[in-house]
Amino acid sequence: MRTGPMPEPKIEVAALRKCFGDLEVLKDINLRVDAGGVVALIGPSGSGKSTLLRCMNLLVLPDGGRVRVGGDSFAFGSGDRLPGVKEIARFRANTGMVFQHFNLFPHMSVLANVMEGPLTVRGMKKAQAEPLARRLLSKVGLADKADAYPSKLSGGQKQRVAIARALAMEPEVMLFDEATSALDPELVGEVLNVMRGLAAEGMTMVIVTHEIAFAREVADRVVFMRDGVVVEEGPAREVIDTPREAATRAFLSHFH
Ligand code: ADP
Ligand code: MG
Repeated sequence: MRTGPMPEPKIEVAALRKCFGDLEVLKDINLRVDAGGVVALIGPSGSGKSTLLRCMNLLVLPDGGRVRVGGDSFAFGSGDRLPGVKEIARFRANTGMVFQHFNLFPHMSVLANVMEGPLTVRGMKKAQAEPLARRLLSKVGLADKADAYPSKLSGGQKQRVAIARALAMEPEVMLFDEATSALDPELVGEVLNVMRGLAAEGMTMVIVTHEIAFAREVADRVVFMRDGVVVEEGPAREVIDTPREAATRAFLSHFH
């Protein structure tokens, strides 16, 4: 039996709003992710998924509402002071983000790519950063590619390096924005496997994905967005197998 209060969620987004000019892209979004929870964010193109993910690490500054990751939070109301560059950097260090395009440094070896954040942002010594980077390359199955340059890797290998590089910052949560959408179909599985392993280890993750079967299998919860609102959310299998809302059913019908 549980005693004491429920643990706080690791990520909390409350009454979040974002406009780009006249376009209201996020309208009163509320979302909580438990520690160790995996949330899949699905929805049509243009629904605001990437913007929401970017608000979670302040790559995009919200116009209203509140974002908390771990122990850091900011409110974005008319009376609230905007966070400064240093506060944003500290906040962002709570999250590791993996994008559709890998953005590896082309002039650096795989090992140097993974060591770069620990060395320059975390101020780690090389003697610490190198074993950390090698351990993470093993985790993503690329220990033997440490000395290779990104141009010699497949898309799936590059994306696994990008995941290792994000993990090297030892973030509290990982955010994935269509991490497999740019990959050839035969390379998708190896990246999903790494993500599956992270979920099994208890990493808190928010995953924007069109891989519905993967979301159903790996995510605890699925959030369906359309036009800047959360239309439906719930346990992954319930939302995907028996969606309540017509808009969710219509969206999911494209994947059968
Ligand atoms: P999704 O990831 O679900 O496809 P996005 O969050 O990328 O959706 O985009 C939501 C809406 O916001 C779209 O209409 C898009 O064109 C617009 N948008 C996104 N980023 C910007 C930006 N930096 N400036 C202007 N409009 C943007
Ligand atoms: Mg997007």
